[in-house]
Amino acid sequence: MPDVLDEIASWLATARRGVGFTGAGISTESGIPDFRSPGGVWTRHDPRKLTFQRYLASEAVRRQAWQMRMELWSREHAPNAGHEALARLEQLGLLRGVITQNIDGLHQQAGSSVVELHGTMRTIACLSCAASWPHREVMKRLEAGEQDPKCTSCGGIIKAATISFGQSIPAHVLEQAHEWSVSADLLLVVGSSLVVYPACDMPVAAKRAGARVVIINREPTPVDHVADAVVNAEAGPTLGDLVGRVEALTGPPAA
Ligand code: NAD
Repeated sequence: MPDVLDEIASWLATARRGVGFTGAGISTESGIPDFRSPGGVWTRHDPRKLTFQRYLASEAVRRQAWQMRMELWSREHAPNAGHEALARLEQLGLLRGVITQNIDGLHQQAGSSVVELHGTMRTIACLSCAASWPHREVMKRLEAGEQDPKCTSCGGIIKAATISFGQSIPAHVLEQAHEWSVSADLLLVVGSSLVVYPACDMPVAAKRAGARVVIINREPTPVDHVADAVVNAEAGPTLGDLVGRVEALTGPPAA
């Protein structure tokens, strides 16, 4: 029986419209905790309670959301071997890019083309006017003691450009993610528990449209039954290993 990684590498090496699909698990090796691990920031601040509607209505909820931002994002994080491997597969012409549930911007930093399903933590925007700021600028205000910073132009409520519970994913983003999924010949899912919509739907839609589906995750997911291969292992080392095997099959890209 061929080693499952050799088999996946052979699928990747011949992919023409491969697509990566990632969740919080690809970024844990960069020091960003995932959503469902025991302990840590998510158990102190349940994002399911920090809904968009409650954020708008309550100063206490906004203070908690900013506190969570201070705990999670006060230090810089760098892409790891997993982000770099996916960027490399795109550079080799085997992946079109990555659809991600993550908000950390690490795929872009590694050089991938990205569809961000849940927006980005890198930008803070006013909910009343067009003003926006880089994440760092607002962090400085928080570090200086502000607990519910307001828009410096109009005084309105400001918020990270992420999709909170109770907020809809913009239609154009969902359409793009769906189009990438159903036109893929291989969907490489990494580090997602695949328990929330639309994440759980994309591998199913890709499979139905004829793609091979590969899932790399520490633990089983409820969507494993649609996959052509499932690897329960660490994302970074596994993807790094896969890229080595792909490059051995394809040789270096044309200059
Ligand atoms: P999740 O936390 O529900 O699931 C992550 C999965 O990755 C788990 O099944 C876990 O076992 C696995 N995993 C963790 N580390 C791994 C590793 N090193 N290698 C392989 N597998 C690993 O994450 P989700 O499905 O992405 O849903 C969480 C939501 O919360 C996201 O949609 C996102 O919006 C938000 N979030 C984002 C970040 C981020 O941007 N880095 C971090 C936490 C949460």
